[in-house]
Amino acid sequence: MSVSDPHVVIVGGGLAGPCLAHGLRRAGFLVSLYERDEAVDRGQGYRIHIDPSGDRALRACLPPHLYELCVATSGVPGSGVSILNGNLEVIHRIEVGASAEDASTDPGGHHLTVDRLTLRRVLLAELDGSVHFGGRSRATRTCPTARSVRSSPTEVTRTATC
Ligand SMILES: Cc1cc2nc3c(=O)[nH]c(=O)nc-3n(C[C@H](O)[C@H](O)[C@H](O)COP(=O)(O)OP(=O)(O)OC[C@H]3O[C@@H](n4cnc5c(N)ncnc54)[C@H](O)[C@@H]3O)c2cc1C
Repeated sequence: MSVSDPHVVIVGGGLAGPCLAHGLRRAGFLVSLYERDEAVDRGQGYRIHIDPSGDRALRACLPPHLYELCVATSGVPGSGVSILNGNLEVIHRIEVGASAEDASTDPGGHHLTVDRLTLRRVLLAELDGSVHFGGRSRATRTCPTARSVRSSPTEVTRTATC
């Protein structure tokens, strides 16, 4: 690696961070991802719905075989989310099925229902060497010229000279 190689530090290894890491790596960037958890298996006990734009983002960022794994481990999406009051009466309903609007704004995107931990494991796959668990970021100051420096093997500190 030379000093001119683009190297991006990502803070947070939840869902967005690893997805971004894959996308940046595919675009030729070196990536270091710092996650404050000690390991990937944080209890995350529910499924989430991924809408067509999220599906397209996964497809754009992940290597094709990992995207296929996301799809293969997803379930059949429900038709929507209902919010109930204490009497179990529906007070709000969000439809999540494919709509004409989805089709026009997100060609090719699909609704996916995924287990959050399974998705996180897939997203973190093949990032070995780039992911630093137990690595907390401390933002000390922010400004346009801020740089991130690695102050220890498990800690990155955002610093600024302005
Ligand atoms: C109950 C609930 C239901 C939801 N359902 C849906 C749904 O159905 N569909 C949907 O699209 N979205 C849903 N969301 C929203 C979705 O969970 C978030 O949009 C998504 O998790 C955001 O991803 P993220 O990677 O930005 O954040 P997170 O997944 O929260 O990950 C952030 C990571 O950063 C780490 N971190 C934080 N601070 C530091 C630090 N200083 N240094 C190092 N690491 C750090 C954390 O440990 C964590 O792992 C739901 C959210 C909730 C709470």
